[in-house]
Amino acid sequence: MNFQHFAQRGVRMNGSAITKLCVLLAAGVSLAAGRASASNSDDKKEFVIRDVRIFDGTRVITQGQVWVQNGRIKAVATDVKAPASVRRIDGAGKTLLPGLIDAHTHAYGTALKEALPLGVTTELDMFADHSFAAQIKKQQADGKDLDLADLRSAGTLVTAPKGHGTEYGLVIPTITSPGETQAFVDARLAEGSDYIKIVYDDGKAYGLNFPTLTRETMAAVITAAHKRGVLAVVHIGTLQGARDAIESGADGLAHLFVDAAPDAEFAALVAKHHAFVVPTLSVLATITGAPSGKVLAGDARVTSYMTPDSIRNLGSSFPRKSGQFSFPQETVRRLKAQHVPILAGTDAPNPGTAHGASMHGELVLLVGAGLTPAEALAAATSVPARVFHLDDRGQIAPGKRADLLLVNGDPTADITATRSIVAVWKAGVELDRESYRAALEKDKQAAAKSLAPAPAGSESGLISDFDDAETPRARFGSGWVISTDSFRGGQSTAQMKVIAGGAEGSKGALAIDGVIVQNSIAWAGAMFFPGSAPMTPVNLSSRKSITFWARGDGKSYRVMVYSQSSGFIPKMQSFTAGSEWKKITLPFSDFETDGHDVMGIFFGAWSEPGPFSLAIDSLKLE
Ligand SMILES: [Zn+2]
Repeated sequence: MNFQHFAQRGVRMNGSAITKLCVLLAAGVSLAAGRASASNSDDKKEFVIRDVRIFDGTRVITQGQVWVQNGRIKAVATDVKAPASVRRIDGAGKTLLPGLIDAHTHAYGTALKEALPLGVTTELDMFADHSFAAQIKKQQADGKDLDLADLRSAGTLVTAPKGHGTEYGLVIPTITSPGETQAFVDARLAEGSDYIKIVYDDGKAYGLNFPTLTRETMAAVITAAHKRGVLAVVHIGTLQGARDAIESGADGLAHLFVDAAPDAEFAALVAKHHAFVVPTLSVLATITGAPSGKVLAGDARVTSYMTPDSIRNLGSSFPRKSGQFSFPQETVRRLKAQHVPILAGTDAPNPGTAHGASMHGELVLLVGAGLTPAEALAAATSVPARVFHLDDRGQIAPGKRADLLLVNGDPTADITATRSIVAVWKAGVELDRESYRAALEKDKQAAAKSLAPAPAGSESGLISDFDDAETPRARFGSGWVISTDSFRGGQSTAQMKVIAGGAEGSKGALAIDGVIVQNSIAWAGAMFFPGSAPMTPVNLSSRKSITFWARGDGKSYRVMVYSQSSGFIPKMQSFTAGSEWKKITLPFSDFETDGHDVMGIFFGAWSEPGPFSLAIDSLKLE
């Protein structure tokens, strides 16, 4: 275990013995990787991706070739001069990226298996069961687990008795005073921790109350970690906590804060201390009530490769909201201006996140906080590799591991293109994503076919009459939300509100107003989720059609039904909303479903630019 441990940090340590171990291990890994792929035909072990846009971790090469041999990148050039016998993969219209590195996760269960199909080839765990991490890392050092994301782990985190980290049911050692810190850190390194994660947070910013380390103890842990040549990363919850950690010599912050805007000196302080920051905007967005996971949970490019549990988790949120999302956004802007290294990390699987999937959301959030798409991609590749001394990855360059992600389109122009994954390679071995997706789909179908009963509350068929509340309510499911093209980079907007005066003289109706801004795919409107969580499929097959009343500005509108079995791609029908209330009946069969796995029903505007105004009422299943 020590062997493996030191080898992984060899570059940071002095001493030739350790360097030698590192070299031996590297050789071992590459031989093992060769064996693992021996079952593939020879042409799969060596290939050239040609005519492809390359984001090499830092820069864009608009058109080039990448030659992969024995799990490593052999050459990157406009013409790599590989023998004609080497298999060519056409990269026209596509972009090749280094595999993504998620710099903040909690890896257990199927986390690593779920991450890889979505392009995350390395996870930096920030607290997990050390024996699980040790087992995975051993298998990976033996060249196994090529269908899992690679793992580095903090193992057991460093926290106070009853502090944050002790509430998850895993019994862990804790510390109380500076005098214990070296022995405590050494015990973590003996368990295999690749770096030290410290909790310095009393939870108050989130309405909680945890004991936490004193500033002196935190500082002593950092010193103890540095004495052993490993990084010390600090979880903080407030601006003051972040300042304390940086001033105490933390190498990096494992989150940003939502309790306050950054003060004028904060970013300069981080820069002065040469620290890095993993903002974890995905989880902060959820905590502050601005979740991005729900949006991702509606994107079939992502959800087709996710388990139902993870899709549910992606759509979930924390029981209470705290702080403001604009604070970490502003902090990221200022950190960027001070050239502080910013790393993409999701904190999966916290509520509102999922392994793999959330990296694509984190990239969008980083761009929203002022990074260019290329800077966001660097934050997910070359920057974490450099900061965490993962010298064999994070770049497309000769000698690096062939951990690669091929996507359609150009994510350096449109960051959401990272979701249009064509292929993922780990150590030069292509993951069979299609088999993974098909197996998931089969499970999903089987689960749907076992036909859960119709959701409780749906017996009458009525979904919403908008007669008894000021906010839109539904008789079952998880309610109404606004859905727009914003997560696909669009700028369309919508609002909804219950208005007086419904169809057939009823009390109220739902008004949906907004503006469609022209884009390749533009939509805006309101979505009803029939399941207990957004995009959870429910069996509505005892009913044959969707009926509702509509009125509006005379424009054409869409109903979109999301079914799990149609690969999460909605099926649509259009209707016209004129100045008089009109009843509309749309059979499920028009949406190419029998209704056994409905995840969402959308009402709104589609494609035609300009303002729109729609009202619906008496939504029922008949
Ligand atoms: Zn975390």
